[in-house]
Formats: sequence, C-alpha cells, structure tokens
Amino acid sequence: MKTFYKSQAWPAQRWRWIIPILLVLLFLATLIWLPWQAQRMEANERQEQLIADTLWVEQAIQFQLNRNEEMLRQVGAEIMTSRLPANAVLERFRTILKNNHEIQRIVWFDNRDTAIASTADSAAPARETPPPQAVSGGMDGKLRCLTPTPETNTKNSYLLSCQIPLLQENRHFGRILISYRLSGILEELVPWWFAQDNQISLVDVDDKVVASRAAGGPGKNVYTHNRALDLPGVALTLRTNSNKSEPRLLSNLLVLAIILLSLGLLWSLAALWRDINRRLAAEGALRQQMAFRTAMENSLITGLRARDMEGRLTYVNPAFCRMVGYPAAQLVGRLPPMPYWAPEALEEYQQRFTQILAGTVPAEGFETIYQHANGERIPVLIYESPLVNERGQQTGWMSSILDVSELKRAQELSRQQEEKLHASARLATMGEIASMLAHELNQPLAAISSYTTGAINLLQAGQVEPAMLQSALEKANAQAQRAGQIIRSVHEFVKKREPTREAVSIADLIQSAMPLIELQAQGAHVSLQWQLEPDLPPVLADRVLLEQVLLNLTRNAIEAMQKIAPAQRVLRILASFDAAGDRIAVEVIDRGHGIPANVAGLLFSPFFSTKASGMGMGLNICRTALEFHGGSLSHRDNPGGGTIFRFALPALHATT
Ligand code: ADP
Repeated sequence: MKTFYKSQAWPAQRWRWIIPILLVLLFLATLIWLPWQAQRMEANERQEQLIADTLWVEQAIQFQLNRNEEMLRQVGAEIMTSRLPANAVLERFRTILKNNHEIQRIVWFDNRDTAIASTADSAAPARETPPPQAVSGGMDGKLRCLTPTPETNTKNSYLLSCQIPLLQENRHFGRILISYRLSGILEELVPWWFAQDNQISLVDVDDKVVASRAAGGPGKNVYTHNRALDLPGVALTLRTNSNKSEPRLLSNLLVLAIILLSLGLLWSLAALWRDINRRLAAEGALRQQMAFRTAMENSLITGLRARDMEGRLTYVNPAFCRMVGYPAAQLVGRLPPMPYWAPEALEEYQQRFTQILAGTVPAEGFETIYQHANGERIPVLIYESPLVNERGQQTGWMSSILDVSELKRAQELSRQQEEKLHASARLATMGEIASMLAHELNQPLAAISSYTTGAINLLQAGQVEPAMLQSALEKANAQAQRAGQIIRSVHEFVKKREPTREAVSIADLIQSAMPLIELQAQGAHVSLQWQLEPDLPPVLADRVLLEQVLLNLTRNAIEAMQKIAPAQRVLRILASFDAAGDRIAVEVIDRGHGIPANVAGLLFSPFFSTKASGMGMGLNICRTALEFHGGSLSHRDNPGGGTIFRFALPALHATT
C-alpha cells in the first residue's frame, strides 16, 4: 500500500520541486553575479577615470612646455630682430625661470655655440657648453629635445634639455637651450589631487624611470596608463599607476548578509521539503486510515447513525442503509419523521426523540421496530451515545443499531424449547406420581362406590330416608369432587400450553397445588404444615410454572426426608413478605439430609442429580422459570437440620 502511494506520488512530487529549485539556484547565481558585475563596472570606471586624468595631466604638461617654448621663442625673436643685449636676455630668462620651477636653467648659445647668457652661470656663461648630443645648426628652426641625462651631483634626477634654434631668413643666430628637471615637471605640473591618488612616472624609451612622484604611496599596478609625451626628438612616456587597489568584491557585512541569506534560503527550502514530505506521509497515512475505516464501516454489520444537535441525520453507514432499505443520499440531511419509522410506533419514536434531545436516553439501549423500505418490520436494539468532538463539545448523537430479528427468532425458539422441556419435566414428575395418583384415586372411587352402593341398598330395601340418602350422596359427591380436583390439577399441570402471565395469589397457588403435594407427602409419610401471611398481594406470573416450581421443591424436600425417622418428617411451606417488603417469599422447609458443600455449587446445573433415578433438571428449570418472572431462588441450611429452599417474586401491589 505504502509503495503504491510512493510510486504514484513521486514523479509529480519531483516535478513540483524542480521549478522552486531552479528559481532558488537562479536567485543564488544572481546574488553572486550581481556584486561581481558591480565590481567589474567599478574597475572599468576607475580605469577610464585614470585614462581621462592621465590625458588631462599629459595635456597640462604639454601645454606648459609649449608655453615655455612660446616664451623662449619670443625672447629668441627679440634677440634676432632687436639684437637684445645679453644681460637683457638673461633678465628675461630669469623671469621665466622664476615663474616656472620645473625649469633648471636656460642658456643662449650664439651661432658659434658660445654661451652668451645662462641662468645657471650668469657670471661666466661662456663656461657653459652645449650638451654633447645637441644638434648644431638646427636648420629647420623646430624645437628639439635631447635624451634625458642624469643631473650632475643629484642622485636619481634627470634633466631634459630642449633646444630652440634661432633662425631668421636662413640666418642662424644660435639657439636657446632650456633644461627641465624631469622630477620638477612632475612636481610642478601635475595637480596635487592627481598625485595623491596615483604614482606618476616618466619613463624613457628603455623603460627606465627617469622621474617619479608618489605622494599618496606607491602604485598598486591595478589601474595603470601610459601616455607618450609629444616631445620632438625624445620618446618620453607619462606613466600613471593608481594607488587604489582593485575594488573589493563586497563589503564584509554584505558578504555575510548574502551568505546568511543563502543559507537561510537553503534551510527554508530544506525545511519546506521536509515539511511537504511529512505532509505527504501524513496524507498517505490518513488516506490509508480512511481506506481502513471505510472498509471497516462497509463490513460492519451494526448500523451506525450520527445526528446533529437538532436531530438531523448527518451520517449513516452501509449496514444501516441495508437494514432500512434506503440509500444514504435519501437519509443524510433529513429531520424526523424518518422514512424508516413504522407508522404504528410514531408516538414512541417521537417520545424517544424528545428524550434524546433532552439527553435522557438509557445507556443500556432500547428496543424498537423500524420499517424497511419494502414495508417489513425489523426489530432493532439501539444504543445512543453523545457525539463529542476533539474539543470535548457535544455536536450530536451517535447511535449503533442492531438488527435483532435473528436474535428474536432464536429467543423464540429457545423459549419454545424450554417450554417443551418444562412440559417433559412435568410429565416426568407426573410419571413419578402417577402410581400414587392411581392409589389415591382408588380411595375416593372406593368411597364413592361404597356410598353409592349404600344408597342403592337403601333404595332397594325401600327404607328411603331422605336424610340418610342425602348424606350418602353428599359424601359420594365430595369424594367425586376430590377425585375430580386431583385429576384436573394433574391435567392442568401436564397439558402443553403457552405461558401466560396473570395475577396469581400465592394462597390460591398453594391451595391448588396442595392435592398433588399431599399426594406426594402421604406416599412418603411426611406430615405437611403450611402457613401464609394474611393479605398477601398477588404476583404477576404463569400459574402453572409456579405450581411446577412448588411441586419440584416439595418433591425434593420429601425425597430428602426419606431416610429419617417418620416422626421427624415434616414439610413446612411458609409464604410471607420478604425483608424488603416488595416481594413475596415462599419457603419450602424440610428436615432432610441437607446439602453438603460440594453439592451446593452444582445444584442448579442441568442434569446434576445425586439420586439414582433423578433427572437433575428440576432445580435448573425452577430457577429459569423464577428468573423469567423477575424472581429468584436460593437455599440455605435449616438450623434444625435439613434445607430451606426459598423463592421470591415481585409483589404486584407492593405495600411497605
Ligand atoms: P433431581 O431431583 O432430579 O435430582 P433436582 O435439580 O431437583 O434434580 O435436584 C438436584 C439435586 O439437588 C438433587 O439430586 C439433590 O441432591 C439436591 N437437592 C435438591 N433439593 C434438596 C433438598 N431439599 N435437600 C437436600 N438435597 C436436595
């Protein structure tokens, strides 16, 4: 069963899970991709910014160098046109030098390469010599720069010298040599905010660093950019190296948050998974339980019915439907009167229904009849109980209904059999007393015979004395009556009949059984005593059954006294109210051999007898008959020897 559910549910369950799992994976991938992408973008942005800034710095340097060149060209022009004296030139040079700290010196060589004016050695400019690589002539008139050379006496400092040829109408007036301190260029021409964030260097064609500035610390080699300076004659590159490191992927807090979020997500997914599995398992178990319950309900032979607080049918099981012959759909939801109520018992149902609503239904169940859809009457036994929900509140009533038709039939059969048994037992008793009966009838018949013979003799003798004749006939009549009574009681006792209940007076009962009891007693030489409490009310019973009980008890008593001295053989019958006052008790007291303890327990068992010819059914039948009348049978030892058998029956009009 379990595997059945699993195999059915698994593929659907797997597909159901695929989409959330994919979504979660997508979410996690996005979560990881987003910061990575952000980092990439930031890095690009920084790189672009660096390029732009480098360009700007290069432009600034270039601009300043051009400006210097411009100014020197102006001085050169004046030298050539107005033959400016050397000291005036020097003065102009000094002004330029003062305003531009990146310039180390400015020297004017004439066309014979003799230094005329020099800012470095103003007193004896002639000591200045043009640098070895200086191109003499410079006939194109264009600026030309020389390979940077280390500055004398200063470590790690390079000088960049550029010469401006002084040329007018193909006349050569010499040249102006301007030397820049490369470190000075970086110090003076690169703005501080840029230098703060970047290491800026100038490198020559051999990749040798000829000047460097790192105000904010060395560069991290993450964002770098090279930009060639546009200087004729020399290849110098401006290299910027940002001191910023690569952007951090994410801040620690964010990373932690993402990790926690992902873990939380995975955990909740797992929890959801577990929960759903648990639910599926519970659902499976529930379904199994339901299937089991339905199977149980369907195979139940007891009818089940649930009603709400107003008495509306809320549930009926198949057995109930079979019992009354209506489908559940026609019953559920209905309020009384119900279709299965038999018209003749409507009042009883209505009364019972009121009792149910009032909650005063007997717990031991009650019997009633239902009417099947085909009109047949079904005897049923119903047990009602309150229907209580899981919160302990009553929501209606639950009834279990048993079809007792079979039981009734069986009871009837058993009653009939018992009846037959009683009749046989009576016959057996009669068999025993038949001989005594014959003997006993002999007496009245003989008496009748002699009385009638006497009467005939009187008539034949002609001495008819009415008084004598009447006396003889009355005696004969009395004897005939007695014989008739004996025969009647025997007939009554033996005839097979249906048990009937009527008000029976105990005095009458004893009276009518007395001839038979006497018959037994006389045969056994037992003297009989009886004592009845006056004004005993009647009991509701079957007279013949009670007679049978009385006869059985007296017969047993008489038989128990067979072996004792005849003088002690006394049988007493007492009838009185019992101690509680609501029953009438009859005691049959003998002085016989009594009942030993080992026999006492078996007395009422069928076919138990200590007598050679005993049937062993007497006491058993007596007790069954008495219980059938709501009475009881018990025995106890007679203190004077012998046994007392006592039966008690409910009085019809009990007086206390
Ligand atoms: P049965 O008389 O055929 O034996 P009973 O059922 O009437 O069957 O009695 C069962 C047994 O109970 C008797 O065999 C006898 O031993 C015992 N018994 C019944 N009544 C008396 C009594 N009054 N005194 C002593 N024993 C008794």
